[in-house]
Amino acid sequence: EFRAIVVDRTENAEGKKAQSAALRVVDDGFLMPGDVTIAVDYSSINYKDGLALMGRPGVVRAWPLIAGIDLVGTVEQSADPRWSVGDPVILNGAGLSESHHGGLAERARVSGDFLVRLPQGISAVQAAAIGTAGFTAMLSVIGLERGGVTPESGTVLVTGAAGGVGSVAVVLLAARGYQVHASTGRIDELGDYLRGLGAVELVDRATLSEAGKPLQGQRWAGAVDSVGSVTLANVLAQTNYGGTVTACGLAQGADLPATVMPFILRAVSLIGINSVEAPLPQREEAWRRLATDLDLSLLDHLTQVIPLEAAFDAAAGILAGTVHGRTVVDVRR
Ligand code: NAP
Repeated sequence: EFRAIVVDRTENAEGKKAQSAALRVVDDGFLMPGDVTIAVDYSSINYKDGLALMGRPGVVRAWPLIAGIDLVGTVEQSADPRWSVGDPVILNGAGLSESHHGGLAERARVSGDFLVRLPQGISAVQAAAIGTAGFTAMLSVIGLERGGVTPESGTVLVTGAAGGVGSVAVVLLAARGYQVHASTGRIDELGDYLRGLGAVELVDRATLSEAGKPLQGQRWAGAVDSVGSVTLANVLAQTNYGGTVTACGLAQGADLPATVMPFILRAVSLIGINSVEAPLPQREEAWRRLATDLDLSLLDHLTQVIPLEAAFDAAAGILAGTVHGRTVVDVRR
């Protein structure tokens, strides 16, 4: 038997569906088929975990399902020749908490196809602190690099900077020598925090969240956006000729009320980032880069570790916008 946070869905007599999550004790019979059984040590709270744990629709697509889009643990059993008992492994996305049981549990059984070996030098708790958010931040930085943005190109912007993706993106870009400006709604409260991560200037997110002109003054050589909507439209309108913007999130909204002007008059590129279905070589590249590029003492500084039953409060907090950085869940505590 083991503890797990399970999302279930009920339907009342009128056919109205409601989702809710609860800490339950289940047994191995509850696990889904898979080649690799893992003793999970840590999971984390991303925005999507906030949605799943607070019963919001859009993440979980099968019920009942164990929540948690990230897991870090140790292989207990394996029928996959690539993995052996005792291997320390990481899994981000890949259907966890969508169609397959996720990481907010003491055990998991998954396909070996998307597992990544814990890199040397990164501890299990640090790998969970990186999690989907940090992995996505790394994919975004790689996206800027592929777009030709270098530290010499000019200033780069990170939106949603105090969030999980944003915080790790600031750290990664600053360490590579980029001049990072951080857009946040919490300058008073978290300005020092963001400067500590490496941001050289802070931008009040309110200056980006109202509709603006299709082309604006050129400010950014590149940008990592996790906010979407009007913010992303303004960022595109402010991006330099030939610049690159990555889009991974929708914290402000899923819409994109933009024009083609930045693309056709300034040759701006917009690159989509998807961590969930990232193919294995891309996962391995991102984790290799995280192992070499990420300042682990700054990672520790932006991380808090909580026990399993505190995941619900952390989920409410991430939806309310009151948490910052990364929240790791110690599933055995
Ligand atoms: P998070 O920790 O909650 O960070 C989101 C940040 O966005 C907040 O901290 C806040 O930053 C800012 N924000 C929130 N509401 C906003 C609003 N109305 N207008 C402008 N800014 C707002 O969440 P996360 O886990 O980092 O995820 C960030 C986004 O990326 C989410 O939409 C998530 O679904 C998405 N995501 C996508 C992928 C992918 O594979 N594509 C992977 C991971 C995450 P400040 O307090 O600094 O303003």
